[in-house]
Amino acid sequence: MTRRRAFQSLAALGLGAPLRAATSLPPATQASSVSKMMVAPKAGTSDIRLRPVTVAPERVIRTIVGLRPFRPSGFVVRGEEMRGKTVVHNYGHGGAGITLSWGTAHLAALEVQKTGQKEVAVVGAGAVGMATARLLVERGFRVSMYTRDLPPNTTSNIAGGQWFPFTFYDVDHLTPTFEEQFATALEFSYKRYQTMVGDYYGVRWLPNFQMADAPLPTNGLLSRTGPVFRMLPQFTELVPARHPFPFRYARRFDTMFIQPPIYLDAMLRELRISGVSVEVRDFRDAAEILALPEPVIVNCTGLGAKGLFGDEELIPIKGQLTILIPDDEVTYATMAPELYMFPRRDGIVLGGSHERGVWDLAPDLAETERVLTQHADIFRRMARPARVG
Ligand SMILES: Cc1cc2nc3c(=O)[nH]c(=O)nc-3n(C[C@H](O)[C@H](O)[C@H](O)COP(=O)(O)OP(=O)(O)OC[C@H]3O[C@@H](n4cnc5c(N)ncnc54)[C@H](O)[C@@H]3O)c2cc1C
Repeated sequence: MTRRRAFQSLAALGLGAPLRAATSLPPATQASSVSKMMVAPKAGTSDIRLRPVTVAPERVIRTIVGLRPFRPSGFVVRGEEMRGKTVVHNYGHGGAGITLSWGTAHLAALEVQKTGQKEVAVVGAGAVGMATARLLVERGFRVSMYTRDLPPNTTSNIAGGQWFPFTFYDVDHLTPTFEEQFATALEFSYKRYQTMVGDYYGVRWLPNFQMADAPLPTNGLLSRTGPVFRMLPQFTELVPARHPFPFRYARRFDTMFIQPPIYLDAMLRELRISGVSVEVRDFRDAAEILALPEPVIVNCTGLGAKGLFGDEELIPIKGQLTILIPDDEVTYATMAPELYMFPRRDGIVLGGSHERGVWDLAPDLAETERVLTQHADIFRRMARPARVG
């Protein structure tokens, strides 16, 4: 049931209506077993040439788990006066923190600018804290960073890294203010990441293939009518039986992929080069944070904000990734119901789990088996191309 609720929120975002309409799971995401959804492609009819992923237990190099910092009403970016200091919150990005980090950093920096102060503490060194610190430096602030964990030990290091906003609010909690903040953040992030494409930051464009046995949604974020559409170049519905996938319906769109181990290391390096001090500290409560010397504090503590600032809305959505040995010849990503495959330099990432309210960081062997079996089935049945498209 937790997974279903998580997918309802996912449906509302990625697979629902502009931001508002969809409240239930679209048919394309409801099927529970891959084999039920499979339509065998006719061998030799595909126009698209893709190297299938070889999925086998002996190719698994690690399984990792992370907790998405989810709030039903979406991320928080706002300023608050606390004991003579300004705290600017910037947390609660759910499954979209890599994607939206630069955009909410921009919104947070606007809040900081309102204070007229120049010395700022950024608490947290995940994707959100890093982008916030970087933008503040660019805008002339002196920044000190404080954090319990550094890469590779943040939730941001667990992310798959697709540039697309999934699972970051529930449709029945939407507010116009949030919609506006989201639109600004999305646009800003989209443009900023484009300046970072290349090996140094580990950002690249890849084709994505979304597939299902029922027609893919025609409204929602992942559609022609949603606000992300113009940020998804090459959006194309593929003709059934002319694509290689073992599902009836498939579409292509291109997105950026951010490889967290490369990206977060480069971000930290750049912050240090630009003069940001980084201190490892584990704050027990808000009072300890408010005792910092800086007059302005940006709270980028992700799920940590729940305990530190008493945000009851903040909950974890557990996600698990099973990583296969790298294969540089796989240069596309796939998304099927409750499954995704992202190729990265450090491995082929297989994911698709969303367990709402689960705090447990232990890998679930049954989930590993599901993701492996279902992906193996997809790639085994992918048609080998007869000609190059
Ligand atoms: C399996 C999985 C796949 C995902 N895939 C994607 C994806 O493809 N695309 C995407 O955009 N997003 C994805 N996400 C979501 C993304 O990982 C999160 O939204 C993002 O990491 C949140 O970033 P953050 O900086 O807010 O939090 P974090 O990375 O958790 O950073 C929080 C920081 O605050 C610090 N902190 C916390 N508490 C304290 C304290 N008490 N004292 C001092 N410091 C503290 C931590 O040490 C850490 O440095 C995925 C998540 C998971 C789990």
